[in-house]
Order: sequence, then C-alpha cells, then structure tokens
Amino acid sequence: MDFIEKYEVFGSVRCWMYSVEWQKRGLPHAHILIWLHNKITSDEIDDVISAGIPRADVDKDLHAVIIKNMIHGPCGTLNPNSPCMVDGKCSKKYPRAFTANTITGDDGYPRYRRRSTEDGGNSAAVHMQNGVIEVDNRWVVPYSPLLSKTYRAHINVEYCNSVKSIKYISKYVNKGSDMAVFCVQPENSDRNAVQVIDEIAQYQAGRYISSNEAAWRIFHSPCMNVIQQ
Ligand SMILES: [Zn+2]
Repeated sequence: MDFIEKYEVFGSVRCWMYSVEWQKRGLPHAHILIWLHNKITSDEIDDVISAGIPRADVDKDLHAVIIKNMIHGPCGTLNPNSPCMVDGKCSKKYPRAFTANTITGDDGYPRYRRRSTEDGGNSAAVHMQNGVIEVDNRWVVPYSPLLSKTYRAHINVEYCNSVKSIKYISKYVNKGSDMAVFCVQPENSDRNAVQVIDEIAQYQAGRYISSNEAAWRIFHSPCMNVIQQ
C-alpha cells in the first residue's frame, strides 16, 4: 500500500480500500481498490495495464515473472481438468479473444490489447504436467508491469470505468471469511427428541483459520482498511 499510496506510482491517490482473505492452503490474497485524483484516460490504459506476453529479449525478468505467474490455466481442450472448468467451459472466460487495440466504452472492464502472433503478438512455451504447450496473448491475466516486476507474484490489475465494475469489486472486498458446518448423526437417533443447536460451537467449528492467518491476527496486522483523503 505504501508503494501505491505514498510513492504514488500510479499518480496521487484519492482513496483506497482493501481486504485480505486467506485461501484454504493458507496463502494470503488481497483485493485492493484504488481511486486516483487524476483518472487514467482510455488512451493511457496500455501504459499501466498489459495483457500481453513480454518479449524475453526486451525484458527477461518481466518475461519470466509473467510466464510463471500470469498465464491462466491453460484450460479447455488443452487441459479439461483445470479447476476453472465448469460444464465444459472456462468459468474465467479464457482463452480471451484477440484484440488489436485496447477497447473501452462498453459497461465494465475494457478489452485489453491481445495481439495474435500474426499481428506481432508474442507467444511462449509453458511447461505443464503432460508436456510443453505454446500459449499466446489470449491466456494472459491482465497485469501491471511495474507491480509484477517489483513483487514477482500473481497480481491481477484491472481498470474500472463504470459503476457496475466498482459495485462488483466492492462486494468482493467486503466478502467475509469462508465457513462450512456439517453434522453427522447416527441413523437411529431419536427423531422426536428436541435438538439443541449450539450456534456458537457451530461457528467455531466452521471457522477456518490457517497457521499463517493465526499469526497475522496475533500480530494485529490489518485485514481490512478504508482510507479517504
Ligand atoms: Zn480457464
């Protein structure tokens, strides 16, 4: 947050909002919303967000980070068992369509520039469990070259130009922790007996906290923050 807010790498920040959620295997996952004083105009999007495979001969480091962290799946016919596949389709809408230039205007997110290899776009060999496959720009999750190179991690960056996408992301930011409660009873239990439901015990039983999240909370690191300047 210092990198974005104090050092103003995307410009002066008007307000921001974030939440940290914990995935089932214990890794933290932050959703961050940034409002800028000077809005990024549609012709500036390509300077901030990319959905292209960087050329290794131009920027070897960025190329390595993007190939490792920002290639979706692959799924579909290349890999039908990918976790994103629902009813034979990718739930994240990959592979995306090729787009010669970034398009804004329709409600929601822009369609970022994704050039085909015939149109000067790059491709790269990605190592999968069952061999090497060639991926092109249809498989790239949008990213900020600056954030990717700085943190060398999976960081999806999107440009929100309508109230609709802001509403969607705000819902995500405020989503609570996951919970699952179930109960197993013997088959011959007395169906007429009054059942006492201990909601507190159920809540504790269903709350899922990994050791990483426990440490985070013991040290009082913030899980949610909203600042308006
Ligand atoms: Zn997919």
